[in-house]
Amino acid sequence: PTYEDFRRSDEYHNSFLIGNDAVLDAAQNHSKEGGLPDIAVSAAQGKLLNLLAKSISAKRILEVGTLGGYSTIWLARALPDSGSLTTLELEEAHAKIARENLANAGLADKVDVIVGPAADTIKTLEPNPPFDLVFIDADKPGNLVYFTESKRLVRKGGVIIVDNVVRRGNVANTEYTDPSIEGVRALLKAIQGDKEVEATTIGTVGEKGYDGFLYAIKN
Ligand code: SAM
Repeated sequence: PTYEDFRRSDEYHNSFLIGNDAVLDAAQNHSKEGGLPDIAVSAAQGKLLNLLAKSISAKRILEVGTLGGYSTIWLARALPDSGSLTTLELEEAHAKIARENLANAGLADKVDVIVGPAADTIKTLEPNPPFDLVFIDADKPGNLVYFTESKRLVRKGGVIIVDNVVRRGNVANTEYTDPSIEGVRALLKAIQGDKEVEATTIGTVGEKGYDGFLYAIKN
């Protein structure tokens, strides 16, 4: 199958299961107009994050890597009225667009966008109360720090999801040694034998190409 087949398949399934969403369309357009790169999760992946959060009745969510807030909107929509989401972003310009998109989505009062290097910011967060779910989707060399800190921040039974852990299968190909791929490998090595978590990788293929989510729960 080609990329065009993946895209068409996502579009077909989405036409039954997701449908049109003016708020998400506006967020995508505003992000594009603001010059943000086209690297948000797909609609199907966003909805999966939303459903996973709902399935554990998540009330407190942490996201690492905001961009224009597209995945943030999907996740924050899963929260009850009393819920909250904290999202960490390096770039002030990205955070500004994310805040605008979140305001347009009616989610501004539930979401806190914190600007700065997430490796520093995440260490300032406290598990009071603990987080139910963390979505890690920032710079890949930071994966291990983000995952280690997430273990500290989530409740027992809480979920940690890491995006882009397959990278067209290149993580499994020793010929590739770029820092993003090494960042995923370092995370896999750390999880191996880590009794605090249980995890699996599920490959994803669709309009964003061939990649994967790592899904972990804290024991
Ligand atoms: N989760 C977003 C979505 O699906 O809509 C996409 C996030 S994008 C793949 C990665 C984001 O992480 C970018 O906005 C980038 O600026 C941010 N980022 C990169 N390095 C970072 C760091 N050290 N700390 C925090 N954010 C970082």
